[in-house]
Amino acid sequence: MLTVQTVTAFEDNYIWLIRHQDQPQVVIVDPGDAAPVITAITAQSLEPAAILITHHHQDHVGGIDDLLARWPMPVYGPAGESIPHISQPLAEADHVHIEALSADFQVLHVPGHTAGHIAYYHPASDTDEHGMIFVGDTLFAGGCGRLFEGTPTQMYDSLSQIATLPDDTQVYCAHEYTEDNLVFARIAEPDNSALQTRQHTVQQQREQGQATVPSLLGTEKATNPFLRCGQANIIRAAEGFSGRKLHTGAEVFAAVRHWKDTLD
Ligand code: ZN
Ligand code: FE
Repeated sequence: MLTVQTVTAFEDNYIWLIRHQDQPQVVIVDPGDAAPVITAITAQSLEPAAILITHHHQDHVGGIDDLLARWPMPVYGPAGESIPHISQPLAEADHVHIEALSADFQVLHVPGHTAGHIAYYHPASDTDEHGMIFVGDTLFAGGCGRLFEGTPTQMYDSLSQIATLPDDTQVYCAHEYTEDNLVFARIAEPDNSALQTRQHTVQQQREQGQATVPSLLGTEKATNPFLRCGQANIIRAAEGFSGRKLHTGAEVFAAVRHWKDTLD
C-alpha cells in the first residue's frame, strides 16, 4: 500500500513524498525547494529513490539540484519541457515503474497550465483501495491552473481526461488554493449545496491549519466549476458572464476560466 506524506514549501506549495507502507524508500514529487524535503527525509531516515516532476515551473523543480547532490537518483519528467537533470523523459501513456515502491504510475499528458505538463496516475489495486493522481498545477482542489502556455481547449481536454478516472481517486495537486478557489466556485454556482458544504468543511480545516489536499475526484466533479462545464447551472452562469450563447464544453470552460482570471 502506498502512503503519501505532505511537505509544505514556500507560501502554499505542497511537495509529496510517496512510500510503500513504512518502507524507507521514498519518491519525491515536484520538489520546488530542497530544504524542507531534506529536513523531512533526514528526520525519518528515509532513502530517496526517485523524483517525479509534473512541469517546468521553478516552484516545482527548484530543489532538484540540491537533492541530487546529496542523493543521486533518477528524475522523471515531461519530455516536452526543458528541465535540467531529467534522466527519464516521459510522454502520454508511458508507464513509470518504481521498483523501490513496487508501484506503477501511468503518465497522462495534460497540457494547459504549461505545454508539456504531465500527471502521474496510480490506479487502485489489490493492495491500494483508492487510486491516486499527482496533477501538479492542472486540476486544483476547487479550481484549476492558470493557462500560461496552453489554450482553453487543451486545458478543458486535460481536465476531461482526468475526470474519466474513478470518483474515489485521490487528487494530489501542488498548491493550497482551495479556500480561495471555493469563493469563486460559489460565485459561479451559488445554489450547489454540495459546494456550500465543502466550503464550510474547508474553512474549518484551514482554521485548524490542516491541508485540504488531497481531495477526492468525486468531490471535485460535484463542486469544482472547471469540471462542471456540462452542467446547466455552470453553462447559464458562464453565458451570463460572457453575454452570449456558448455551444461547447470548451467554450464554457474558456468563459469560466476568463471569469475567474478577472476576479483574481
Ligand atoms: Zn506551475
Ligand atoms: Fe506551481
